[in-house]
Amino acid sequence: MPTHKLLLLAGDGIGPEVMAEVKRLVAWMNAHGMGTFEYDEGLVGGSAYDAHGKAIDEATMAKAQACDAVIFGAVGGPKWDKVPYDVRPEAGLLRLRKDLGLFANIRPAICYPALADASSLKRDVVDGLDIVIIRELTGGVYFGEPKTITDLGNGQKRAVDTQVYDTYEIERISRVAFELARKRNNKVTSMEKRNVMKTGVLWNEVVQQVHAREFKDVTLEHQLADAGGMQLVRWPKQFDVIVTDNLFGDMLSDVAAMLTGSLGMLPSASLGEMDAKTRTRKAMYEPVHGSAPDIAGNGVANPIAMIASFAMALRYSFDRGKEADLIEKAIAAALDKGLRTADIKSEGCKLVGTREMGDAVIAEMERLTA
Ligand code: NAD
Repeated sequence: MPTHKLLLLAGDGIGPEVMAEVKRLVAWMNAHGMGTFEYDEGLVGGSAYDAHGKAIDEATMAKAQACDAVIFGAVGGPKWDKVPYDVRPEAGLLRLRKDLGLFANIRPAICYPALADASSLKRDVVDGLDIVIIRELTGGVYFGEPKTITDLGNGQKRAVDTQVYDTYEIERISRVAFELARKRNNKVTSMEKRNVMKTGVLWNEVVQQVHAREFKDVTLEHQLADAGGMQLVRWPKQFDVIVTDNLFGDMLSDVAAMLTGSLGMLPSASLGEMDAKTRTRKAMYEPVHGSAPDIAGNGVANPIAMIASFAMALRYSFDRGKEADLIEKAIAAALDKGLRTADIKSEGCKLVGTREMGDAVIAEMERLTA
């Protein structure tokens, strides 16, 4: 059995607290013959800045390049609000995404039936929801040049961001979407603004070409990104896999996040290009939430998003779908028993802390494999 090498970057705030539960899960899996996982650890974000004045150092970047998967906690917090822009905590995250070439961000939005009442939408709209948003992560308006603020000299300034996409960027992200849809309900919805943006016209055209050439068996539909946002809150179960650019993906995935109730429940994966020889890809797995400075250090953070991010690593980096399913079933079972961290608590449920929720997930895995 191969040894899977992980790099754990817990980061700041609640990052180390929720990462502790992944470490315990990894130890449990090793002890129960469910793979051989080795891990190394490193600093990122504010904690890295405190240690060596950078949001991530070269030695940690080298470890990230060499491992099979990076498991990332969260970075940031008020303590570092005033540090210089290029060494702010988020710069560590952006460097990892950029240097590892992580162009595909995969965010499932799953609404566990036990939590349907935590959503701001009606139960029947979200109960059992299981959709995935695929966001292009390394291109578009966040990176396009020119990106400037110019003083016009008459008391006015002009800010410019540039939205830019090349064919190959749209091809590779749409392939990730079609391939994933084939393993799910076989439907992709592409969202862009082809009515007002040239990048939208090209996006639409290239997705259709990739579909016609390689994925005719998958159902493809297009929605304008604004209408898509509306449909996401109207009837989200119409979707299976949504593929969209960096900017729209940023917003649409946050909308989808709230369908499921709490940020503390949501995992994500960011994948790089498949290496044709080794059939592996660089990858990083992280919860959608941030470092939650308001609750950090209290042992009350919900570890489920972090644990579910590790489950995604099992599925996407290590081809261990069975073990990923087991973790997800264990999470659902712990919720069914009425255990809740503060962010998802509801009447009649038992309030637990980070450690107890981690314990409960492992206990359910014990039970499900007994
Ligand atoms: P946040 O996600 O940290 O917190 C938003 C709210 O959700 C808070 O009330 C928090 O207590 C709650 N929350 C988040 N995760 C939770 C969990 N696992 N369990 C229980 N409650 C949880 O977002 P924010 O407050 O906007 O940002 C805080 C810091 O995190 C900022 O410095 C921000 O820049 C950073 N941030 C980092 C990332 C990342 O590392 N990927 C993402 C978003 C924000």
